[in-house]
Amino acid sequence: MTAEQISALCLPRTACGKDKGRGNQRVRVLAPDHALCEECPRKDSKPERLALVEFKRPHQVLIDEETCLLAQGLLCLGPATRAGCGALCVKGNMPCSGCFGPTSRVRDYGGKALSALASIVASNDREEIVRIFQQIPDPTGTLYRYSLPASLLRRRREVRAA
Ligand code: SF4
Ligand code: SF4
Repeated sequence: MTAEQISALCLPRTACGKDKGRGNQRVRVLAPDHALCEECPRKDSKPERLALVEFKRPHQVLIDEETCLLAQGLLCLGPATRAGCGALCVKGNMPCSGCFGPTSRVRDYGGKALSALASIVASNDREEIVRIFQQIPDPTGTLYRYSLPASLLRRRREVRAA
């Protein structure tokens, strides 16, 4: 995505007067306020109830180009990510890594992504759940790739340090 495309999606909130006096510190995102899955060309192949027993990495599998990537065990963050890009990466046969961030109803992107993944893991056994999640390399870096500075994790650390 080019810088021009990104700037077209954002408008200083001062334009509506809400944050008058704060300059351009905050922006209002004009991208659709729903999850990427809703505009994904593979959404019809995403099962109503997913049940994952393992997470795979793109280089470990031959990726089916028609089927939902999450249903193939690939860590696609479409369920937690805001729509608006047209599912660019998914169309290129790569999982969404979440660069569009969350919808307006989500306070913490990584927490939302983790919650979405936890809801589709096919086990209630603690050790099995840990085993499955250990297949995600660098979970913090993966789930907070674009949002760590704004995350609740960082705020918690700041409160403890105070
Ligand atoms: S999980 Fe990924 S591949 Fe599946 S429907 Fe959502 S965005 Fe598309
Ligand atoms: S990472 Fe996700 S939100 Fe960003 S361009 Fe790729 S598919 Fe779109």
